[in-house]
Amino acid sequence: MDTATPGAAGARSVFNADHEIFRTQVRRFFEREIVPYHREWERAEIVPREVWRKAGAEGLLCPVMSEEYGGAGADFGYAAVIIEEIARTNASGIGFPLHSDIVVPYVEEFARPEKKREWLPRMASGEIITAIAMTEPGMGSDLKAVRTTARRDGSDWIINGSKTFISNGQNCGLVIVVCKTDPGAGRKGISLICVEEGTKGFTKGRNLEKIGMHAADTSELFFDDVRVPAENLLGEENSGFSYLIRNLPQERLVIAIRAAMSMEVMLQKTIDYAKDRKVFGQTVFDFQHNRFKLAEQKANAVMFRVFADHCLALHMKGQLTIDMAATAKLLGTEMQNRLLDDCLQMHGGYGYMAEYEIGRAWADARVGRIYGGSSEIMKEIISRTL
Ligand SMILES: Cc1cc2nc3c(=O)[nH]c(=O)nc-3n(C[C@H](O)[C@H](O)[C@H](O)COP(=O)(O)OP(=O)(O)OC[C@H]3O[C@@H](n4cnc5c(N)ncnc54)[C@H](O)[C@@H]3O)c2cc1C
Repeated sequence: MDTATPGAAGARSVFNADHEIFRTQVRRFFEREIVPYHREWERAEIVPREVWRKAGAEGLLCPVMSEEYGGAGADFGYAAVIIEEIARTNASGIGFPLHSDIVVPYVEEFARPEKKREWLPRMASGEIITAIAMTEPGMGSDLKAVRTTARRDGSDWIINGSKTFISNGQNCGLVIVVCKTDPGAGRKGISLICVEEGTKGFTKGRNLEKIGMHAADTSELFFDDVRVPAENLLGEENSGFSYLIRNLPQERLVIAIRAAMSMEVMLQKTIDYAKDRKVFGQTVFDFQHNRFKLAEQKANAVMFRVFADHCLALHMKGQLTIDMAATAKLLGTEMQNRLLDDCLQMHGGYGYMAEYEIGRAWADARVGRIYGGSSEIMKEIISRTL
């Protein structure tokens, strides 16, 4: 079965035949609804909301969500298929995994029953696009230092503060805001509160201009005496930090899965290019230096494929640890950045042209070493287990 793996890693055992049938459906959707328009969306710096609704109608959003709320109740392998197809097509503006695999799980796990019934079906259909707002202008890596506050006022929460770099920030209909509900208590004073678009005092700032991932909307968000009902709190008051720690491994696995596929696909495209492009009367591939570079990167891509699939299999059994997920994110994004840089180099000047996929993939990938916890933070996490 074609999983876009060039083969050297051998047959992949993490997916079954049903996953591959689903992959065919996802691939058709991407070829029809996304690939032809993605460059246009890069120029517009946003993906139209309509695309989300089409994806929802095809069952491409929230595959893991329980059927009770409109999901497919599927295993995480189905989510991985979608993540891989995004990477395979370099559709870096498509924020489905952030929504389906990072934000919505908090709502499904921790929201009040009536809120689940109200929100989850609309999240599965693409009517509500979600975001999670942790980072602030003065704080990113050190999550416990958030300054945005939420205080109780009768049966409401009043939220004040600002967030930045929030993915899906322009498109979001609901954002989970990481707030301090007990400012003196550090990590034990953090709560997660949902804020819906249109709530008085909640404003979206500008769509931030980035060096890559141009079709992905990334925003500042402002909260000025935003009043939301107490039921918008996820789980228990002051337990938000522990929820984040528990769910962040899945976010890191998403990034690692993406890196593995991006490496395989862009390497293959570079091999094809190198075999075709002539310099000094021979192909770029004919030079031993270039063949060795490609061979070295092939070895990296194959090794990481095996490790990423191992982590995915562990996750599907509920056994992916925080440090293993950090290892996968660290290795995957660092390798991906080195590989794409070598691939870009082999394209010469064309590699630097935005119309070539390799240049865009190179710029898109750079953020992988920063978001979802930077490489340095991944090393911190791993080093705690030494
Ligand atoms: C495109 C994009 C999308 C994003 N999407 C979201 C989103 O949807 N939601 C959200 O909440 N955030 C999002 N972020 C924010 C992202 O998670 C943060 O940028 C990241 O966590 C780093 O935080 P910072 O930018 O404040 O850097 P800082 O924390 O200021 O770090 C600066 C440098 O110091 C290093 N450093 C920090 N701590 C240590 C340490 N202990 N040891 C050694 N070095 C250290 C960092 O690795 C980094 O190199 C996004 C960012 C980008 C660029």
